[in-house]
Amino acid sequence: MTSSLSDVQSPFPEPTTDEAMSGLTAAFDPGRFHDDAMDIVNRLTAYLGDRSVRGLDLIDPAVLLKAARGLMTPERQHVADFDPDRVNQIVNLYAETGIPVHSPGYMGRQFSGVVPLAGLIDLVSSVVNQPSSFYEAGQLPNVAERLMADELNRFIGWDRDRFAMVTTSGGSLANLTALLAARNRAFPQIWTRGAGDTPGPPAIAISEDAHYSVTRAAGVLGIGERQIIRLPADRTGRIRPDLAEPVLEEARERGLRPFCLVASAGTTSMGAFDPLEELADLARRHELWLHVDGAHGASLLLSDRHRDKLRGIEHADSLTWDAHKMLFMPAPCTLLFYRDKTAAHGAFKQRASYVFDEEPDIYSAYDSADKNFECTKRPMIMPLWTVWSVYGQALFAQKIDRLCEMTRQAHRMISAEPDFAVAHEPESNILCFRYLPDGMDPAAAHRLQLEIRNRIRGGGRFFISKVDIHGVAALRVVVMNHLIEADHLAMLIAEIRDIGQQVLRESATARHDQRNGSHS
Ligand SMILES: *Cc1c(COP(=O)(O)O)cnc(C)c1O
Repeated sequence: MTSSLSDVQSPFPEPTTDEAMSGLTAAFDPGRFHDDAMDIVNRLTAYLGDRSVRGLDLIDPAVLLKAARGLMTPERQHVADFDPDRVNQIVNLYAETGIPVHSPGYMGRQFSGVVPLAGLIDLVSSVVNQPSSFYEAGQLPNVAERLMADELNRFIGWDRDRFAMVTTSGGSLANLTALLAARNRAFPQIWTRGAGDTPGPPAIAISEDAHYSVTRAAGVLGIGERQIIRLPADRTGRIRPDLAEPVLEEARERGLRPFCLVASAGTTSMGAFDPLEELADLARRHELWLHVDGAHGASLLLSDRHRDKLRGIEHADSLTWDAHKMLFMPAPCTLLFYRDKTAAHGAFKQRASYVFDEEPDIYSAYDSADKNFECTKRPMIMPLWTVWSVYGQALFAQKIDRLCEMTRQAHRMISAEPDFAVAHEPESNILCFRYLPDGMDPAAAHRLQLEIRNRIRGGGRFFISKVDIHGVAALRVVVMNHLIEADHLAMLIAEIRDIGQQVLRESATARHDQRNGSHS
């Protein structure tokens, strides 16, 4: 408890003393920066060079909290003296406690080991600090966005003079932004008068297997659960256009006013691609905005071998494309494309005199603030544009091809194992399967996969994920690392089998003990 006034800090700043100034100067010293950068780059070079097969070392958060707290200076009155050891320990702790995204043991999630150059450009972004929603605050990022938009639009195929692109902090925000633009086109009165006087409840049609950000975005827009029309999907998670039509008609009869159909180009669970051509047809007949959530799979457009999976994309109204997934960029970096730029402006129909110029000039014409939710925004395009400029598109296409090929290889290998069952044929770099010896009921199979997944993670050699498919858990690998070879897959299969058999032995023993009453 505070006992005397002298413990309370004065509300008036002390006059700046030479001593205080010198601490401040030291923290901003370019020489200091140089020395620290060398140390950190050396540490990261070792990190990147570590090719060992490793999974996640999951630490008790209480332990990590204590370790991290121990690295905080106790100094409060003065700028602390610089301690290079403290910085080193922070960097080490940071690198060691993450999912090792550069290791071939990492097969669990959709973010990837980044192209190292991208990381360096992110460092530049942080030092020169150019938030990119306004041209005057981030000139090169805003120009780079235009260039990158044109480069990627060549693969989408929209009219160069009509399409638009904005970057957003993640695919979830891109989905929200696209749904907002779609809603404002269909119900322009909501922006001014609120949702009270629409002719009927606005509704969206989505796949049973849509990413959770889509229903979350709907919630944010005031579109309730009952206004979400779920379109039936086939066994692998693709929307069935033939079954979608009657479901849409039935929803209209219930009084709903569907305005948008969300298709997935690469579902999160199984990497399935919805049939865009047929869905575009359906959307046109029902006057729906077609939004394609290609957060994961839009990158396949860059590959001559895989582009076909997005056939029909040119008919979409908007497309979410995460560069921090299959374009191997630091997170977040998401691109939201609109076929028609007037629609992009429709997402946010407001004016704020302190930022938006009444008369756009040659500079403010490059601002993106009127088209994206964020005001201050990371210049997230810079790593992507730089890597694209330096290496060209083939780097991306080659890596994508390699990842998809390795996933097919995993499918071949796992299909050949009698005690495993694959859940689908991989369409991209995601494969779901189960360790499933004969004679297992679904409830037991479900528990077994969960236990295997957790023990694999605990073992620290591989990091894989799990997903529920038709109510039963499955193991899921996402091949994001081009260093993954067939040998690694064989190691993973052997480890899953070992663990699976061990779990089954343990539960047989437990059942036996229970029957004999030896369980106390
Ligand atoms: C990852 C993913 C998202 C969410 O994107 P974030 O960038 O993680 O916000 C949305 N949809 C699909 C299909 C995804 O795979």
